[in-house]
Amino acid sequence: MEPKGVNFYVEAGKRAAKWHKEYISGMKKCRFDTIAVHGIYSMQEALDFNQGSIIEPIYMSSSQAYRDSDEMEAALSYQIPTWCYSRIANPSMYYFEGAMALLEGYGADIETSCCATSSGMAAIASAVDPFLCVDPKKPNQKMNFVATCQVYGGTFQQFGVRKEQEKNIEWRKVINSNDINEWASKIDENTRFIYGEMPSNPSQAFFDLKKVIELAHSHGIPVIVDSTVATPALLRPLALGADIVIQSVTKTLTSSGMGISGAVISRKNLTSRFGPDEMKADFATYIKLLPNRDNGPNISPMNAMLSLSDMRTLRSKVDMMSCSTMKIAKYLEQHKHISQVDYLGLESHPLHELASKYLWLVDAEYDEMYGKPVNRYGHLMSFHVKGDAMQTRKVFDGLQRIWRATDLGRIKSVATIPAISTHSQQGEEGRKLAGIPSNLIRLCVGGEHPDDIIADLDQALSTLDGKQINSTSPEYSAGGASSASLRNK
Ligand SMILES: *Cc1c(COP(=O)(O)O)cnc(C)c1O
Repeated sequence: MEPKGVNFYVEAGKRAAKWHKEYISGMKKCRFDTIAVHGIYSMQEALDFNQGSIIEPIYMSSSQAYRDSDEMEAALSYQIPTWCYSRIANPSMYYFEGAMALLEGYGADIETSCCATSSGMAAIASAVDPFLCVDPKKPNQKMNFVATCQVYGGTFQQFGVRKEQEKNIEWRKVINSNDINEWASKIDENTRFIYGEMPSNPSQAFFDLKKVIELAHSHGIPVIVDSTVATPALLRPLALGADIVIQSVTKTLTSSGMGISGAVISRKNLTSRFGPDEMKADFATYIKLLPNRDNGPNISPMNAMLSLSDMRTLRSKVDMMSCSTMKIAKYLEQHKHISQVDYLGLESHPLHELASKYLWLVDAEYDEMYGKPVNRYGHLMSFHVKGDAMQTRKVFDGLQRIWRATDLGRIKSVATIPAISTHSQQGEEGRKLAGIPSNLIRLCVGGEHPDDIIADLDQALSTLDGKQINSTSPEYSAGGASSASLRNK
């Protein structure tokens, strides 16, 4: 057989890439829900390559085979679209990443791309590490980054221990993220990026993103936003000018809770005075094909598809769960055993007005029910029990419908005490900075009817009246090895 030549495949690859690009620009004209449902998977692709399967197939395969050596060469030099090896890329990953990139870029005239990872923490490391490389021109420079101190507990550890302690990279903490002068005072010529979580988990910190972006870009520094709590249904930082968005896809994006996954979504041609041009041109694709190829944190095809499947109903779920959370927050706010409720949706919240500038239910103006823009504030809230740590535990232990777990974003309501769970590693001092007292219970409201959740909270809080309640049975679930051994003892 005559060799076809590398160029034959390169030309075919160009035609395929062009077709995909056109399909995606057509998809971009659709509304949010349509994009969430269809993503980048087309009827043509289904019929030509996937036996007509209307759902994106899960390609449980480690690698892709090639027709001949020319195709292999073209593919492995990244000259044609390929998925070569699933540590780097895989069709199921592409379907998820394509949909995610479109949702985060929704409503803005920008090009976005996505690299999906095995967890939210892997997404954060993948996003920040390329900016924390040694500058060959200044090899002894002590690098720093400026980030809010109200961040997820795992992020606090990654920044405080893995970067600062282990690598001598300074984390300049912004204590009051709502003070733009504080951000400005922390930036110098060794600052590599700006990082913020909004709304923050669990304390609902919120900052004026547009001002922070303006400030960072005036210094030629990128802005990275952890937008896990808002999801693209309520906030799309890239559309406002941010450079990179982090999603712990584990959370609200995949509310069914079947696994852990994350995503880095970036705008093309981001702002950064540091780093190679190819990194700035298309950050997410760059990390996918280079650093993440070498470090190996990318998502598995199975988790990519579970995530994609969950995301299709994102907008309506976030709307419903936000409305329920508002009702529950109002109930708690007037309760005699509660001293404070932190929910951005409440007018009593000091950041309510600012949050209302940013958090809008996507496409509410095209919704039959609303027909105009409406604010929604998500399903994460927290409340302070009037009392000490022990009384807080008593209320927590009294919950019978709301799950006690260190989780959020679920279709099932989940509560935790951050001081003894998600934020226990950072110590008293770190918790003080992040505003997490020991009488704080974080509640993430699920898809149940809110009245049933209120009833559960009501009976749990009534334990502080001195009334007796039934505690959960100490029996362990059937079937598990632990339950069998417990019974045998
Ligand atoms: C959970 C969480 C993360 C980490 O994500 P994982 O998927 O658990 O690794 C990061 N940021 C926020 C805001 C989170 O809630």
